Amino acid sequence: EDDFPMAVDVLTDKVLDGLLSSEFDKSSCLSRYQSVAYRKESAHKPSSHLISRLRSYEALHRRCGPYTQSYNKTVEKLISGQHTEISECNYVVWLSFSGLGNRILTLASAFLYALLTNRVLLVDRGVDMADLFCEPFPKVSWLLPSDFPIANQFNNFDQKSPHSYGNMLKRNPVGNSTLQFSYLHLAHDYDDQDKLFFCDQDQTSIQKVPWLIMKTDNYFIPSLFLMPSFEQELTNLFPEKETVFHFLGRYLFHPTNPVWGLISRYYQAYLAKADEKIGLQIRVFDTGNGPFQYVLDQILACSLKEKLLPEINQNEDVGSLPLNQKTKAVLMTSLNAGYFERVRDIYWEFPTVTGEVIGVYQPSHEEYQQTEKHVHNRKAWAEMYLLSLTDKLVTSSWSTFGYVAQGLGGLKPWILYKPENQTAPDPPCRRAMSMEPCFHAPPFYDCKRKTGVDTGALVPHVRHCEDMSWGLKLV
Ligand code: GDP
Repeated sequence: EDDFPMAVDVLTDKVLDGLLSSEFDKSSCLSRYQSVAYRKESAHKPSSHLISRLRSYEALHRRCGPYTQSYNKTVEKLISGQHTEISECNYVVWLSFSGLGNRILTLASAFLYALLTNRVLLVDRGVDMADLFCEPFPKVSWLLPSDFPIANQFNNFDQKSPHSYGNMLKRNPVGNSTLQFSYLHLAHDYDDQDKLFFCDQDQTSIQKVPWLIMKTDNYFIPSLFLMPSFEQELTNLFPEKETVFHFLGRYLFHPTNPVWGLISRYYQAYLAKADEKIGLQIRVFDTGNGPFQYVLDQILACSLKEKLLPEINQNEDVGSLPLNQKTKAVLMTSLNAGYFERVRDIYWEFPTVTGEVIGVYQPSHEEYQQTEKHVHNRKAWAEMYLLSLTDKLVTSSWSTFGYVAQGLGGLKPWILYKPENQTAPDPPCRRAMSMEPCFHAPPFYDCKRKTGVDTGALVPHVRHCEDMSWGLKLV
């Protein structure tokens, strides 16, 4: 009854190859069904094991989610502090923390951890989580109720918090098996004790705690692949290791209708008709006000060298082109408008040597990060999503914003190296080994031998990242 091809195969009723449950109401989240019309089909298929684990997770979530009988019971125990019989329902509460790209990556990490440990994931709604993302699980919400008893303590949870697993270990190294909740501090400033989260021995004691409250700004999945207790299950879930975020992302993150409006209107107005779509994600971490000439030089050097954009013909006497030339749409994202204006002007002022017609577009220039503002985050989410709809993508080093786009899109980006000393690096960029995000602050610890170890050199599928030499990524 509507014009969009649905993600549902009518014969089998499968949504995204069975990745998504078929139990949703379509109108409440249009993107879940309409996105297939905007994306190329994924080159990858989810494993049947992943699909069956997602369905059993959804069933668990339905039994244990907010305000179910089991939920109410475990919440009572949390208040009374009594440790009575073991409940079927144990939880990971994900705390809203950091920029939107970071939040998307950490939420995927927390979900996979929940899946591996048979826990239920509940999401601290922060300022705008409910405004940005559709509910990913059918029937029962993933949002933590605002009357959750210890919600008022969330703001105090940090590296120094006495409730953190690391600090608890410092006081009591044998662990405390009767805790009702534990705070897992997995943010960039976590210390050696907090990092023991990634050791199997510690998981054994963490497993007994019904409520885990997790705060992180890191995509920590690569380190889960180095833990013997999770290794086999992870291999079964993801036979192709570089598809972890690709599938978890497409499973979990569906823009709400207002955000989908931003995405679909922009796509149809500026991108849909082009023969090829190129994404350029520009994130500059240098201090000072851009635009910087060295960043512009680097963008052009990379795009031309890798033949993502055509050279220009600087001869003045080239006249008009015949109609019906090939068109390329370049989608740029940046907090700053300067790079976009320069690239757009170059292709307006000069013809291309190939005759291609280049349109350059940038949805917004918000000038600076405004994580607490609704419209700002809606636009950021829309732009990550739009980048994921391009055919070829250039990203900036260290940026989780870019990681989200590449993972959702199933794209191996060209990564712009981080400029040093205000000069464009040479070479300007390189192709990524895989579409996976980088874990920026991984542990370097051998849990068995209790010594330091290079965790990027232990197995072939967990390597150091292209854009951060100490980071880890799946390949
Ligand atoms: P990261 O800092 O690049 O890893 O990405 P995050 O998404 O975690 O944090 C950066 C935040 O700055 C984003 O969430 C946006 O709020 C804002 N931001 C950065 N780059 C852009 C951009 O190109 N477009 C928009 N709309 N916002 C951006």
